[in-house]
Amino acid sequence: MTPILAVEGLTKRFPVRRGILRRVVGHVEAVRDVDLAIAPGETLAIVGESGCGKSTLGRLMLRLIEPTAGKVTLDGTDTMALKGPALRRLRRDMQIIFQDPFGSLNPRMSVRETLAEPLKLHGLADTDDTIAAAVDDLLMRCGLSAHHAGRYPHEFSGGQRQRVGIARALATRPKLIVCDEPVSALDVSVQAQILNLLAALQQDLGLAYVFISHDLAVVRHVAHRVAVMYLGRIVEEAPAEDLFAKPLHPYTRSLLDAVPRPDPTRRRETVSAKGDAPSAMAIPPGCAFHTRCPIATARCSAERPALRPLGTTKVACHHAEDAPVRPAAGVTASDALRKRLAILNERRRAREAEVTA
Ligand code: SF4
Repeated sequence: MTPILAVEGLTKRFPVRRGILRRVVGHVEAVRDVDLAIAPGETLAIVGESGCGKSTLGRLMLRLIEPTAGKVTLDGTDTMALKGPALRRLRRDMQIIFQDPFGSLNPRMSVRETLAEPLKLHGLADTDDTIAAAVDDLLMRCGLSAHHAGRYPHEFSGGQRQRVGIARALATRPKLIVCDEPVSALDVSVQAQILNLLAALQQDLGLAYVFISHDLAVVRHVAHRVAVMYLGRIVEEAPAEDLFAKPLHPYTRSLLDAVPRPDPTRRRETVSAKGDAPSAMAIPPGCAFHTRCPIATARCSAERPALRPLGTTKVACHHAEDAPVRPAAGVTASDALRKRLAILNERRRAREAEVTA
């Protein structure tokens, strides 16, 4: 299938400046040589520790920040070649949902004004009546109602604010949405509602999602494919089922091992990474993970492993074939989240049955 979004060799290097003259004293390599493709209607999760570059990668995909090198293609169009009105037209097709809905909404604008702004900007509705109808439709799609349109962000709960954020992202009828930790700031029952809403919208509108998260339990629930990032590079990419069943990269295994298990009788089989991640200003040579890897060899510090196919997975590790393969069982959505999702799914199925009857 032709990808809706493809990135090739995407790289971002930020200069680090110090002193009164703001001299450049080094560079932070936030994203390094990333290749990815996302199919229409697919959810690609990007996971990794804080500071691994996953949010920067999401913003590079949307051209919210300019890359140092590389190419981003949306639906066959090279986004790097676009400027002015052509770039604005393209922005309609790519939107973002932020982690902090309160911070991303203008406190002085009512929900109606917030949702009307992109509609007017992109010429999707121009009369008061068409704008009002479009705003009402967006609110209903996102589980709110027309009477919420006159309210301001501080009058909503966290979950409702995130629904407004999703409605705003949908206003331009995008093909792809980058969801940057969209449920991290919410409590479990609200998380389940927002995840269900995103799933329903994907089903109805054929949206592709880039789902950025550090929460592997949530990722396992929502993602079709998962890319694992370490110090700016993708080190493993696989269908979600395969990645959780047989992670091949030692870093992926250490991330999975770090997820708390709710079973006191299960012994934790540890492939823990040693110490903290090195600074992105001083990335180790060879395999960047070799300073923390429990199975590193001399080759690892001398030679950088390429991301290569191995079965259904792509993995950047010299010793992926030798790694002990055992299922990373136990990484599931928490009991509370699972129960809440089950209840909501049941209600949705009942509603769908009513409509069909
Ligand atoms: Fe560990 Fe070596 Fe594989 Fe890097 S290449 S993850 S250091 S075994």
